[in-house]
Amino acid sequence: AAKAQGRNCFAHFEPGMDAAARERRDMEIDMRAALTRGEFLLHYQPAIDIASGQTVGYEALVRWNHPTRGVLYPGAFIPLAEETGLILPLGDWILNRAVEDLASWPDHLRVAVNLSPSQLRSGHVLGTIMRALAHGNVAPHRLELEITESTTLHNNETSVAQLHKLRNMGVRIALDDFGTGHSSLNYLRSFPFHKMKIDRCFVEGLGQREDALPMVRAVIALAHSLNMATTAEGVERPEQLDILRAEGCTEAQGYLFAQPEQASGIADLAQPADASRRSA
Ligand code: C2E
Ligand code: MG
Ligand code: MG
Ligand code: MG
Repeated sequence: AAKAQGRNCFAHFEPGMDAAARERRDMEIDMRAALTRGEFLLHYQPAIDIASGQTVGYEALVRWNHPTRGVLYPGAFIPLAEETGLILPLGDWILNRAVEDLASWPDHLRVAVNLSPSQLRSGHVLGTIMRALAHGNVAPHRLELEITESTTLHNNETSVAQLHKLRNMGVRIALDDFGTGHSSLNYLRSFPFHKMKIDRCFVEGLGQREDALPMVRAVIALAHSLNMATTAEGVERPEQLDILRAEGCTEAQGYLFAQPEQASGIADLAQPADASRRSA
């Protein structure tokens, strides 16, 4: 639009574009340094088995403790990490840290790690995971990988081959944010996921909007008919949990139970495994 209005107008917009490009470049430089300076950290949010009320695992959510900008959330840096390829070393760091943390937790707990599509396309994530599990002496079924719907993933041979190898090893595979992508049903046909995570936008309206329940009911029925467990994301109110329980949803996650926080602040994790929790 600026160009169409003539050269002067175009020139007028250029300094703004430079500033955006500079900011992006600065962030990229910062991100490279952040990896070596240890500025990334993981917060953990519990997933609760709805029938028993027990915590069954924790999802790892990455944060960046930026030296001048404060704590940054994934929405502020994961897209740039993906564009620049930095998601590969960052993703390796996340996997290694999460599995290392998991190794010190009670045996009945799992960790869920979010994977970017580019990590699967790169082909080396399988090796990273195998080494991390072996190093921590952790059973593969205690690791769950969360994969978001993306139009490219199921068309990519490397990605699909790695997912199958991971699944055959016993690693659990979850389809994250179900219902927000473009190829939901195609996706379900293309890979045998263990679990479907029902996106927060469907859970939000439960008990408040009439259209919420039929949608959630249909998604749970679809998942269960394909032998997939279900996790409801973003559960904030008791009435949402009551409805999800009545509908047979397997697990729930959300502020109703806990906000994501550092492992050191979570009592269940700070203590070594004890017999009472094991037999529960
Ligand atoms: P996600 O995997 O769907 O993660 C859930 C997001 O919802 C998290 O935001 C979490 O803090 C937030 N959340 C949890 N419970 C509630 C609730 O009750 N209400 C509301 N309003 N929000 C809730 P976060 O940590 O900002 O992460 C956003 C997204 O960034 C994640 O969505 C995931 O796609 C991505 N992400 C996070 N960590 C990683 C990572 O280590 N690697 C990659 N590749 N992506 C990550
Ligand atoms: Mg997730
Ligand atoms: Mg999710
Ligand atoms: Mg989500």
